[in-house]
Amino acid sequence: MKSQRKAGFGTRAIHAGQSPDPSTGAIMTPVFMTSTYVQSAPNVTKGFDYSRSGNPTRSAMEGNLAALEGGKHGIGFASGMAAIHCVLNLLQSGDHVVAGNDLYGGTYRILATLYAKFGVETTFVDMTNLDELEAALRPNTRLVMLETPTNPLLRCSDLAAIAKICRKQGILTMADNTFATPYLQLPLALGCDIVVHSTTKYLGGHSDVVGGVLVCNDDELYTRLKHFQNSCGGTPGPMDSFLVLRGTKTLHVRMERHCDSAMQIARWLEGHRKVERVHYPWLKSHPTHRIAKKQMRAGGGMVSVELKASVAKAKRFLADLQVFSLAESLGGVESLVDHPASMTHASIPAAARRKAGLGDGLVRLSVGIEDLDDLVADLEQALRRV
Ligand SMILES: *Cc1c(COP(=O)(O)O)cnc(C)c1O
Repeated sequence: MKSQRKAGFGTRAIHAGQSPDPSTGAIMTPVFMTSTYVQSAPNVTKGFDYSRSGNPTRSAMEGNLAALEGGKHGIGFASGMAAIHCVLNLLQSGDHVVAGNDLYGGTYRILATLYAKFGVETTFVDMTNLDELEAALRPNTRLVMLETPTNPLLRCSDLAAIAKICRKQGILTMADNTFATPYLQLPLALGCDIVVHSTTKYLGGHSDVVGGVLVCNDDELYTRLKHFQNSCGGTPGPMDSFLVLRGTKTLHVRMERHCDSAMQIARWLEGHRKVERVHYPWLKSHPTHRIAKKQMRAGGGMVSVELKASVAKAKRFLADLQVFSLAESLGGVESLVDHPASMTHASIPAAARRKAGLGDGLVRLSVGIEDLDDLVADLEQALRRV
């Protein structure tokens, strides 16, 4: 008897998209290292004909992520940027995009350098300001792209309100849910059309894979996105798909710890005399705290800190940290620290960076799941020398 009851997040994280291997009973989805599939007669297949078009390990990963986002269709890619490229390929020259002004640097770059040359124009706005968004919309606006919380200031924009504005005007909304993950926030349920992830981050969760995925509900939109995936490739291999699939099995447990530790570190830093300002959506002092509370389950694992320090001293702080590693990326079990102005956001021109509020003394922490005491002690010893 099949139950109609919808399984909870943790149960879906572990089981959705997967079933024991029918030939062996293996409980884990095998890594199907195969490029092609034997056909019993021309075009008579068991659902797979060529691994760019489809691979069973990838299908399990796509089904799993679709289930976690509460969506119907998942489409896997070899990186988050390949997934974003697929969405942008829905456009044609003469179309207009409105995007957030503190996007992931790579997303800014693909819009500003690669798509601009094909005649796709982008207006960058503060997505937390709905008036600014509405004023930027034009008759030829086809797509609104946003991240919430943003990187690295962790500003939250109102997904339901933005989706409503766009839907009324027939504009697609794409939400990059990499920072929040589906455990904390569900953009499709709030009315967005497409969710994108860099699975490299929290979904993979162990800093051992680069990948991306799109999730959507609309069948026609899915057909167009799937056509791009199959036509252009950029698909993840079976081992990469397996690693993401294994990562998502513990997503809910990891996120609980990331959020708890990040909250405690954010509070502690806020009271520290060497700290100018802490950006964390769950702090009452955060400018978009109210919106975060409305649409998220918790504040996430990222904390950004402005030190009362010169650039040189901020760099010294980075070098003095021992448990936090200086590295790009985020969302893994290990704690990382990043200097946006010189690392992740260096591709944004300095003037645009300052305009968006990314100071040279800003440091971004990806709070891992090591023991909280060790993380705090590490920050404390490095701050002492600032
Ligand atoms: C990392 C990241 C991307 C790009 O993903 P890759 O897997 O590195 O290609 C896009 N958006 C956000 C928010 C990211 O953090």
